[in-house]
Amino acid sequence: MILDQFRLDGRVALVTGASRGLGQAMAKALAEAGADIACVSRSGNDAATRNIVELCGRRFVGLTCDLTVPEQRRGLVQRVVDALGRIDILVNNAGIGTRHAPEEYPLVEFETLLQVHLTAVFDLCQQAAPFMFRQGRGKIINIGSVMTFEGGLNIPAYAAAKHGIAGLTKSLANSWSRRGINVNCIAPGYFETDMAGPLRDDPVRGPQILDRIPCGRWGDPDELGGVVVFLASNASNYMHGSVVVVDGGWLAR
Ligand code: NAP
Repeated sequence: MILDQFRLDGRVALVTGASRGLGQAMAKALAEAGADIACVSRSGNDAATRNIVELCGRRFVGLTCDLTVPEQRRGLVQRVVDALGRIDILVNNAGIGTRHAPEEYPLVEFETLLQVHLTAVFDLCQQAAPFMFRQGRGKIINIGSVMTFEGGLNIPAYAAAKHGIAGLTKSLANSWSRRGINVNCIAPGYFETDMAGPLRDDPVRGPQILDRIPCGRWGDPDELGGVVVFLASNASNYMHGSVVVVDGGWLAR
C-alpha cells in the first residue's frame, strides 16, 4: 500500500541542527513517521526536541558538537550508532547566516560558514556511508536553499555554500546510488525561524520579500515535514541527486 512506503518504523535518523527551527520540525516529522532521532546541536539546548520526539514514542539522543570544529565532528556518526544501534537517515541541516557586503566580508567568517554548511556535510556523509553500504540502504538529505539557485544580497559565503550543496548532492548520488544510498537535497524558501527573523523583521527587506512570494506568506517549518519524510522513506527509492524546492513559488516567479 502506498502510504506504508512512507513509514519509517525502526529507522534511525541523525538530524543536525535539530534543536530548533527547520531541523526541529523535520525531526518531529521523521519521529511521527516512526524514526528514532539523534539531534546534533552546538548548544546542547535540545530539551524541546527531545520532548517532541519522546511524545511520539520514539527514542532520542542529543549530541553537542560544534560542526565547524573538525575534532568535534570526529566519530559523530559512530556515537549515533553506539546510542541507537544504526543509522538509516542523515539530514544535514545545521547552519548559520551572516550578512556583509562582499568587499567587507571577513575571511574567517567566510571559512566558518563553509565549514558548517559544506565541509561538515561532506564529513558526515563520509562517516555515514560505510554503515549505509553495509545495510545496502541509506537516505542522505542535504538542506540547500533558494540560494542554491540565486546569489542573494550580501551573502557571498551562504550563496557559495548553498550552490555547493547541490553539486555535492549530485556528486555523491552519482557515486553511491548503486550502493543503496539515495542522496537528495531540499531547497527551502523563506521560513519562519530564528535564522530568518532579522530579515523578516527588517522594515525594508521584510515587506519586499513577502511581496515577492507568490503564495503571499512565509513558510511554516512544519511544511517541510512531508518532503523530508518522503525523501527519507522507501517512497523515494528511485530519487537520486534531486534538489526539491519548497518555496511558496519564489523560484517560479
Ligand atoms: P536556525 O533556526 O537558526 O537553527 C540553526 C540550527 O543549526 C540550530 O539547531 C543550531 O544549533 C544549529 N547550528 C548552527 N551552527 C552550528 C554549529 N556550528 N554546530 C552545530 N550546530 C549548529 O536555522 P534554520 O532557519 O532552521 O535553518 C536550518 C537550515 O535551513 C540551514 O542550513 C539554513 O541555511 C537552511 N535554510 C533556512 C531557511 C529559512 O528561511 N529559515 C531557508 C532556506 C534554507 P544551536 O541551537 O545549538 O545553536
